[in-house]
Amino acid sequence: MKIYNTLTKRKEEFIPLQEGKVSMYVCGPTVYNLIHIGNARPMIVFDSFRRYLEYKGYQVNFVSNFTDVDDKIIKRANEEGISPGEVAEKYIFECKKDMAGMNVKPATTHPRATEEIDGMIDMISTLIEKGYAYEKNGTVYYRTRSFKDYGKLSHKDLDNMQSGLRELKVSGADEKEDSLDFVLWKPRKEGEPYWESPWSQGRPGWHIECSVMSKRYLGEQIDIHAGGEDLIFPHHENEIAQSEACNGKEFARYWMHNAFLNIDNKKMSKSLGNFLLVRDIAEKYDLGVLRFFMLSAHYRSPMNYSVELMDAARSGLERIITAVTRLGGLTGEERELNVKEQEIAVDLEALRAKYEAALDDDFNTADAISSIFEMVKLSNTSVSDNSAKELIKAARQQILELSDVLGLIVEKQEELLDSDVEELIAERAAARKAKNFARADEIRNELLEKGIILEDTRQGVTWKRK
Ligand code: AMP
Ligand code: ZN
Repeated sequence: MKIYNTLTKRKEEFIPLQEGKVSMYVCGPTVYNLIHIGNARPMIVFDSFRRYLEYKGYQVNFVSNFTDVDDKIIKRANEEGISPGEVAEKYIFECKKDMAGMNVKPATTHPRATEEIDGMIDMISTLIEKGYAYEKNGTVYYRTRSFKDYGKLSHKDLDNMQSGLRELKVSGADEKEDSLDFVLWKPRKEGEPYWESPWSQGRPGWHIECSVMSKRYLGEQIDIHAGGEDLIFPHHENEIAQSEACNGKEFARYWMHNAFLNIDNKKMSKSLGNFLLVRDIAEKYDLGVLRFFMLSAHYRSPMNYSVELMDAARSGLERIITAVTRLGGLTGEERELNVKEQEIAVDLEALRAKYEAALDDDFNTADAISSIFEMVKLSNTSVSDNSAKELIKAARQQILELSDVLGLIVEKQEELLDSDVEELIAERAAARKAKNFARADEIRNELLEKGIILEDTRQGVTWKRK
């Protein structure tokens, strides 16, 4: 399998550090808001990549963090009149709900920055001891020029960067030895959350968080580090500088970056205000459609969001579902495959190989989906009630399996009967009475996934189908 490595700017054969095992770290969201569909792109892409690695037989240790301390979280907390911890808790919960809706598997570990502060203090201390960092008035800075490989990921030249930065004159720049230096630890301001450290009561910089969480859960050297392409510089460049200076080892072997999801040809982002939330999409479409839409392009190609493309994704997904449902309804004949059917079985296997070849070529999900469409077409035209049972089953299984590798659910979910819904609502009421709110929420979500919306009214609980 080949993947494009941002570090070398080439497609490279993927060889894991340990045979049969893959360690992978994906930078997760800063939790101060509901996630938008731009944030959903890396989640969907790298979850699908992980599923493909698992399909190929690798055991994948997949770590993705939540950044739960940050200026934007503190600002949000002040606006909402709650603590930053409560803001983070709330949006982690909501993010996990959106992930479940998009059929993104939970990571092996989802570390939170605020629970890893000791590790950050340790790493910063080591960097100071080794001469890669220094303290000034309670702030610790990374001495960027001391790391000779700085710029190797983003392919930037330090001297060009310096001239750009000189004009910026960032606040606090005067106390830095060099305008390129970046913050590892900063002292608290009035009213901000803080932790004790040898340098000041304060909190870590964003970049050190990922270096530390990656090391703690995956070790000093990992196979793959991934995220959106806006993270290449400075975030990932700084992670490399911190981790490699501290551990004396190459940090990640392969760096994968997804391109942006745009809207009106501009990056969708919280700061530009041109975003659509995953929740907004869920009101109009099944989130499986969003997933299909994201995977219908190569992950390194920019995508433009439009209603037309989403509608096209809906009918594409529907075409696969219809074919799977039809195959499921065929009875077929209890006999061996005849010659013609043997040929169809061979064609199906060839399409599996084509699908794998697409994904082996830098994870080309667009071509892999085209192969699934070819399987659909082949079964629509060549598999019928007169076919051997075994062929019907093989065609259905293959389409189901290869769709599932991309996280696409193409098997029609059985609808819940009214009586089942009533039963679950009664169980939820009992759980709430027993103050088991976790179970009560779980039931609400379970129902929501099956298209049942609950409303708590003064008269009791009412429900409707989506
Ligand atoms: P943030 O919460 O902004 O740090 O973003 C979390 C993840 O979403 C990062 O990997 C970003 O690179 C990614 N991301 C944010 N906006 C977009 C976008 N419009 N298209 C693709 N990826 C994005
Ligand atoms: Zn990160």
